[in-house]
Amino acid sequence: MQTSFLGDVVVTTPLIEALARRGAVDVAARQDAAAILTGHPAVRTLVVYDKRGADRGVGGLVRVARRIRALPAEGGRVAYMAQGSPRSAALAWLAGCGTRVGFDTSRQARAFYTRVVAYDPARHHAARLLSLAAATEDAGGEAPAPRLVPGDAERSAVDALLAEVRGPFVAVAPGSVWATKRWPYYPALGAALAASHAVVVVGGPGDRELAEAIIAACPPGRALDATGRLSLLGSAELLRRAALLVTNDSAPQHLASAVGTPALTIFGPTVPEFGFGPLAPGSRTAGVDGLACRPCDPHGPARCPLGHWRCMRELSAEAVAALARGALAGAAPADPAPSP
Ligand code: SF4
Repeated sequence: MQTSFLGDVVVTTPLIEALARRGAVDVAARQDAAAILTGHPAVRTLVVYDKRGADRGVGGLVRVARRIRALPAEGGRVAYMAQGSPRSAALAWLAGCGTRVGFDTSRQARAFYTRVVAYDPARHHAARLLSLAAATEDAGGEAPAPRLVPGDAERSAVDALLAEVRGPFVAVAPGSVWATKRWPYYPALGAALAASHAVVVVGGPGDRELAEAIIAACPPGRALDATGRLSLLGSAELLRRAALLVTNDSAPQHLASAVGTPALTIFGPTVPEFGFGPLAPGSRTAGVDGLACRPCDPHGPARCPLGHWRCMRELSAEAVAALARGALAGAAPADPAPSP
């Protein structure tokens, strides 16, 4: 059960893969994130739970539970609660999952759990989620890298899109659901990096305005707006071919981790210690050190509660460009070719 945001679904893939070595794995995910697992070899069935739309309310919960009950389950059904909401826990119970495993921090949901696992705040979230399985793969060490599996359709779509740029490229992802996590200097960063690399802007249709500002700041022909032009898995395939991703603390950093591309993640109101940093080799993080108010929120508030937003405003384009150049110098050579 992973009914949280896209990035959470991506960092759940090590857990899914560990469980797939024991038996069939069906994944319940919200409708705007489930598509990222399309064709994933560890997933038997994707159960879309549109909890804010078509499956809203008790009627929707019962309908989705029926869909899960209809799936084969020889030897019983175990639910691993990768998201700690009481609604998801109720879904597992209604779906006939005799064993329900979740974290001890889920105060309201844990009444539904038959096994409770300690939530270790010091670990990366991918490792925390893997601990739900009590898997032998989880030796308590480094966080396991997530994995996504783009297919032929994604490769073709990215081939066509990248025909519009020449040479190695840096991807930038200026968007975020949370306004205070959107670093404001991507146009200046794009202009600084365009001398050595093409710049490709990734994101959803809602990020188009941010992309246009970056394109306008770069020399003609050196930047490409890919926002809204690829599926979620297509975006992962695009990132697989990038030399580096520069991103806010949001889903694209997890897509990059899942395809082995280093990310430079910019943290403002949040910090890497929350357990959601980038995992691909060569990845780095950026943030304003020594700010007493930081971090101020587990996700990033809609507005800076202090009004000054220094955690982002004081992180200059020059500083981030220098970190990006360092990452590019240390990164393995980009592979602009399609995968076999
Ligand atoms: S309170 Fe501090 S950490 Fe939070 S948004 Fe404002 S400047 Fe950033």
